[in-house]
Amino acid sequence: MLPEQPKDDPLAGDADVPDNYVQYTLKKEKSLPPVQLSNILNELNWLNVAILGVTPIVAIIGVCYTKLQWQTAVFAAIYYYFTGLGITAGYHRLWAHRSYNASKPLQYILAALGAGSVEGSIKWWARGHRAHHRYTDTDLDPYNAHKGLLWSHVGWMIIKPRRKPGAADVSDLTRNPIIKWQHKNYIWLMLIMAFIVPTLVCGLGWGDWKGGYVYAGVMRLTFVHHSTFCVNSLAHWLGDAPFDDKHTPKDHLVTALVTIGEGYHNFHHQFPMDYRNAIRWYQYDPTKWFIWVCQQVGLASHLKVFPDNEVRKGQLTMELKKLRATQEHLTWPSDSNDLVVISWESFREQAKTRPLIVVAGFIHDVSDFLDEHPGGRHLLVKNIGKDATTAFFGGIYNHSNAAHNLLSMKRVGVLHGGMAHGTEDKAVPPSQRLRIARYNEMGSPYASSALSQSDGEGLMG
Ligand SMILES: [Zn+2]
Ligand SMILES: [Zn+2]
Repeated sequence: MLPEQPKDDPLAGDADVPDNYVQYTLKKEKSLPPVQLSNILNELNWLNVAILGVTPIVAIIGVCYTKLQWQTAVFAAIYYYFTGLGITAGYHRLWAHRSYNASKPLQYILAALGAGSVEGSIKWWARGHRAHHRYTDTDLDPYNAHKGLLWSHVGWMIIKPRRKPGAADVSDLTRNPIIKWQHKNYIWLMLIMAFIVPTLVCGLGWGDWKGGYVYAGVMRLTFVHHSTFCVNSLAHWLGDAPFDDKHTPKDHLVTALVTIGEGYHNFHHQFPMDYRNAIRWYQYDPTKWFIWVCQQVGLASHLKVFPDNEVRKGQLTMELKKLRATQEHLTWPSDSNDLVVISWESFREQAKTRPLIVVAGFIHDVSDFLDEHPGGRHLLVKNIGKDATTAFFGGIYNHSNAAHNLLSMKRVGVLHGGMAHGTEDKAVPPSQRLRIARYNEMGSPYASSALSQSDGEGLMG
């Protein structure tokens, strides 16, 4: 019983939306003035204030004066899940996202259960939610997470919207007879499902009329409200972004636990047509399990699943991004572009005055390492002025990755023609062999190889 969409909402279709729609609309259509203490009484949506304010107050008072019977407790918990599923499996995954097909009986059941969650009609809810996905984190997103946790949780409902949600096509919903039926009979359906059914079940079942109303009706409704509201607030605030970090949606187990499985919201915003939120079997997504069971008993079909190959690309992209950040924070050896190219004779000459050793075509100054060398100073001294490639790579001792990485930090030059054919990979330290390169760096000389630049005659020292 939240704000209803005006009957002739011109933005409910999206065929004529211009390409620069978001920018254009934000510029052209003025938003309502910001809410301040002076104008707040005029800017509140009083109906929603009453629903969202009175429900928990009645629940708390009721709980203080009503003894909880175990049968009522069990039923209230079950009814919480089922009315919640009306929103998550019905309003959200079925109607807003069309992530599966539901038979007529299942649609009627979900439409009725959803009404018992008192979150407006399917038509209004799905309209706003489609705008939320299309304009995520902008002012055309009705629950724009950038406006704060409180705004995305309840603020957007209790304060009059500052502007109309962005255009979203809901023509498929307006044609659906069950959605029309629910929209038309919403008030009655809502009262029956939210309050009358739970009171009757507990009253006729085990004589607990009052408990049925208080616990399975009002208290349960408070929980369903805030549980599903967390999809807009908590799911855009808590957790990490394993698929895409361009926008605010996040994945977190805690969000999943409080939202009947809608907590893998980063995945959901990437693949909204997927009937799942959680893709791993051990992740908590009762809404997915419910839809799957409905399929097994013939009530649902055509469950949409995004190709795993594409899902994994998203994950890999984010993993590479993190690794790239790590890579950029480390100090890397100079590559052959930055180093002077020196002839063998010049190298031999200079090695008389400083401890220079050639390994894999690079000239290294080991002066600060002579006393640190684990194999002893004498092994280094023995190779000063020489090409120690064979010795380094196993002739004497096959050095570790760490040793090779450290050696590359001591580069001071490139030996002209110093790389024997077939030993190219030895020029690249292990830490750089799987280096992460952006697409526009591919084929750039950033790769530390002395090969392609080793014959610059004019650079000879
Ligand atoms: Zn979202
Ligand atoms: Zn969604």
